[in-house]
Amino acid sequence: MRIDRRTAAVCDIDGVKVGGRNPIVVQSMTNTDTADTSATVNQTIALANAGSELVRVTVNHDEAAAAVPTIVRALRDFGCGAPIVGDFHYNGHLLLRRYPDCAKLLAKYRINPGNVDIGRKHDDNFRTMIETAIEYGKPVRIGVNWGSLDQRLLTELMDKNARLPEPQDAGEVMREAIVASALRSAEAAEGYGLGRDRIVLSAKVSNVRDLIGVYRDLASRCDYPLHLGLTEAGMGNKGIVASTAAMAVLLQEGIGDTIRVSLTPQPNGDRAEEVRVAQQILQSLEIRSFTPQVTACPGCGRTTSTFFQQMAEEIESYLHSRMPVWKTRYEGVEEMNVAVMGCVVNGPGESKHADLGISLPGAFEEPKAPVYIDGRLNRTLKGDRIVAEFIEILDEYVENRYAPKAVGTA
Ligand code: SF4
Repeated sequence: MRIDRRTAAVCDIDGVKVGGRNPIVVQSMTNTDTADTSATVNQTIALANAGSELVRVTVNHDEAAAAVPTIVRALRDFGCGAPIVGDFHYNGHLLLRRYPDCAKLLAKYRINPGNVDIGRKHDDNFRTMIETAIEYGKPVRIGVNWGSLDQRLLTELMDKNARLPEPQDAGEVMREAIVASALRSAEAAEGYGLGRDRIVLSAKVSNVRDLIGVYRDLASRCDYPLHLGLTEAGMGNKGIVASTAAMAVLLQEGIGDTIRVSLTPQPNGDRAEEVRVAQQILQSLEIRSFTPQVTACPGCGRTTSTFFQQMAEEIESYLHSRMPVWKTRYEGVEEMNVAVMGCVVNGPGESKHADLGISLPGAFEEPKAPVYIDGRLNRTLKGDRIVAEFIEILDEYVENRYAPKAVGTA
């Protein structure tokens, strides 16, 4: 039976609602040493400012757990309200008990069932974490990762498979173990008393086709909200394309309630890139809008100078620079579409489909640039102030087209 994900359970994470018909939540994770409170606070603010609606931090040792209250309080003092999620492995049961303020101030605990010894008869680490979550009223994400899959469960399923008259291939069994680990853990958590509405599941792998298969299966077998992400996606284009390829298929099928793009940044690179990529995936699929989009043609032999590329870049940068202010003032401005086209072949046509469009003169064309507003030719720009004049038109358009926002709704 297929679950209708739109009516699935909803998990409230310090006011951020994940699941059901709520908007798909963008999240990210810091890569600072959590014990370095200033570095973690600064990066969390940068991620939140870029649009991360939940931020996860590693809580891997005593110093990290002890730093969490300082981090959360500093964030609130700086006006950053992003819920902070603690990422626990191996010793989460000890840290949550030793540092009650950490347990209280985190908005959610991520538990990896592959490394908390779920099912042990004594000193059941998983159970301790769930009981802590119940005590402090926190939700958990049961986050399975195939790099740290519960080996006992995998062995059990492999043995069972080997006894079948027609055994499945090892990959099938591995995928089943990933899904079963998530489902069994969620069932155990509910058995220990955690509310169904306090559980989010994830089952991450690093291969696109496997991820799609695993999540389709998981989505059809439970109604918990699902956190989606290709684990260890990699660097640069590879990470972006692989994450997009996997998530686009699933999101289009209505699978996924919160997403993270796990990019490996360049040394000293911008961690917030993963947030922008996640937003762009959702915006490209027309699931959520975050920032005005520029439709620009790739250019070709008809655009022989760099003028066209420079203009497209200048307009895109201008839109990004204005958005922090516009989004506090104008309702729906993030849905604006601006076309910047290189010549008359597709320029006027594409410009007519955009809210605002300009078709620049290609090589050997008359040096003029028709501007289209809401599908109609509005005016034609000429001379060397085309960019500046187009930006003036853009400002005027935003002011006139989008209604002022009510105070406090940004
Ligand atoms: S719109 Fe014109 S300049 Fe742009 S790619 Fe097409 S033909 Fe080339």
